[in-house]
Amino acid sequence: MAFALTDPEHGYYTTQQPFGRSGDFITAPEVSQLFGEMIAVWCVEQWQKLGCPNAFVLAELGGGKGTLMADVLRTTRKIAPAFFAAATLAMVEISPILQAAQQQALQPFAKGQWHTTIDSIPQDTPLLLFANEFFDALPIEQYIKTAEGWHERGVDTTGFVAGAPVTPPALFLDAPEGSILEHSPATTAIFTQLCERLQNQKGAMLIIDYGYADHALGDTLQAVKNHQYVPVLENVGKADITAHVNFAALEDIAVEKKLSPTLSTQRDFLHQYGITTRLAGLLKNAAAAQQEELMSQYQRLVGVEGMGALFKVLCVSGGSRF
Ligand code: SAH
Repeated sequence: MAFALTDPEHGYYTTQQPFGRSGDFITAPEVSQLFGEMIAVWCVEQWQKLGCPNAFVLAELGGGKGTLMADVLRTTRKIAPAFFAAATLAMVEISPILQAAQQQALQPFAKGQWHTTIDSIPQDTPLLLFANEFFDALPIEQYIKTAEGWHERGVDTTGFVAGAPVTPPALFLDAPEGSILEHSPATTAIFTQLCERLQNQKGAMLIIDYGYADHALGDTLQAVKNHQYVPVLENVGKADITAHVNFAALEDIAVEKKLSPTLSTQRDFLHQYGITTRLAGLLKNAAAAQQEELMSQYQRLVGVEGMGALFKVLCVSGGSRF
């Protein structure tokens, strides 16, 4: 999965620009500016909770085309100029093509430092960080229950095969044959480091992705090309491969690190941060055709059959050293 997505020569993200109507999939910030505006409100709220520090790091992981950060900067410059002035920008992006797209999108704000991993995000001030559809792109391991017990699921030239035996968490010891369990060591490692950053630097993070709220069995590995699902082992490097995020596992890590996680659906989060008020404001100044488009974008973001329920928002805050 890591090779298929991020190999410098053959990787999906590293060799093409996959977003938008003409690309393979559309993400929430590409659906509507309303999404980034609500993230901006969250950022300002968290900054206020920190006591409005006059220097902090505003970081994004996997910023795609840069649309979300551009919306956040545009909005905060307007609603909270002191926040905007205090922010040092850190964009973590592995793809040179997408780094270039982000640099272009953020040029009007005259801010920005690019990093390929989270390690070089500055450590000397509080950290506010968000990531939309980043963790779903990190590689997972799968385990399968066979007649002989649990095995790692591997891939060879014939397709998926059972690999080395493994011991699953006690919860799933008695799962029926054929059950699949997923775990993402990369997600665990990055998320744990981010929690440690929040402990030391103080601050908050917002993780938005499709995923599940309870530890569960199931095969969520999927590939998408041209807005269609395709077999995972075909079109390697040409299709977007993702897996659902195990938010229960992330909450467990945050609690273990003595931070406060809150999980909501994207629908509830966007409503909590005022999307309907902002929508009403935009509708008032829009022509009829535009109004229809705004309504359908809003529905797509919050609708239960759209992104509203499958997408979850995990807010983690805390840290006490400062
Ligand atoms: N957040 C954007 C894009 C989501 S796609 C949006 O909502 O539109 C996933 C993003 O994560 C891409 O920008 C991809 O290049 C980046 N990415 C994937 N794996 C990464 C890794 N290991 N390190 C850094 N960035 C990565």
